[in-house]
Amino acid sequence: LINPIARPSVTQELSENVILTTVDDLHNWARLSSLWPLMYGTACCFIEFAALIGSRFDFDRFGLVPRSSPRQADLIITAGTITMKYAPILVRLYEQMPEPKYVIAMGACTITGGMFSADSPTAVRGVDKLIPVDVYMPGCPPRPEAVIDAIIKLRKKISNDAIQERGQIQQSHRFYTRQHN
Ligand code: SF4
Repeated sequence: LINPIARPSVTQELSENVILTTVDDLHNWARLSSLWPLMYGTACCFIEFAALIGSRFDFDRFGLVPRSSPRQADLIITAGTITMKYAPILVRLYEQMPEPKYVIAMGACTITGGMFSADSPTAVRGVDKLIPVDVYMPGCPPRPEAVIDAIIKLRKKISNDAIQERGQIQQSHRFYTRQHN
């Protein structure tokens, strides 16, 4: 016989045996645990990103698997200067990535034009004029530890994402690029 007094309450049983979540939380957990960055770099910042991929920093522990094709990537770390001539190619790479997709702007050149921002007619003064940026990573160049910090910040941001809102941001980006290309 079961003593009804000794039985755990329904609330206790639920908390021990049932995991409650939302579609957003489940989706976000899957996204942040398996970010696949595009192997992309245009200048010296990429050397630091490449160093991160080596065994020393154990990059894979975040579930990051670098990809050579934008169609297999959902994260682009814009490592290096963006020139006006190169800008349409970056936008095209971004457009080829499946959604939801994320952008980390790496280094002073990418964020503001860096040392080229004063008088260069060829440097893009801010990658966010071309594609939406999720995390800005300052430095010249940022060290591999800074890239890890940016990835942790992006994972926190993804954990608070709502699927619907993300879709709206990316639709407005598509409208923006259609108007400006
Ligand atoms: Fe090179 Fe510095 Fe520009 Fe990075 S921010 S691309 S290290 S000049």
